[in-house]
Amino acid sequence: MIFCVSAFDVPAAPGAYALWLRLEAPFEVTAGKRKGILLAGDYLYCGSARGPGGLRARLARHMRPQKRAHWHIDQLTAVASVLGAFVHEDGDECALNAALGDLPIPVAGFGSSDCRRCAAHLRLWPRGAPLPSRWENARKAAESRLP
Ligand SMILES: [Zn+2]
Repeated sequence: MIFCVSAFDVPAAPGAYALWLRLEAPFEVTAGKRKGILLAGDYLYCGSARGPGGLRARLARHMRPQKRAHWHIDQLTAVASVLGAFVHEDGDECALNAALGDLPIPVAGFGSSDCRRCAAHLRLWPRGAPLPSRWENARKAAESRLP
């Protein structure tokens, strides 16, 4: 597990990630036929990338606000700040999501329409709520690399 603030730091390899997003104001999203309001705050979205360019290409896309909406998460990256990503090379998005099992699900079905295991792939990350120790350690390691 590594933490990256820029897609340039992300390996161009397949794997899974949790995108860290910050919403400054409430925002309505749709997940299939469901609608839900996301309150201002921090969120973690778990996804995976197995195509060309792997994790680096996918995270570069998430970090670019202007794009054609394709996934549920594209609604959110259009308005939220992306503060970084926890990246697990060769990892599994549902395993990352399960590791965040203590965090609330804001909108059922968001990001998980093709997943049979998870109620949603988006979690609210309440201010100060601890993440699993591997995640916290990855973030501390990234901070220590900053100039
Ligand atoms: Zn899942």
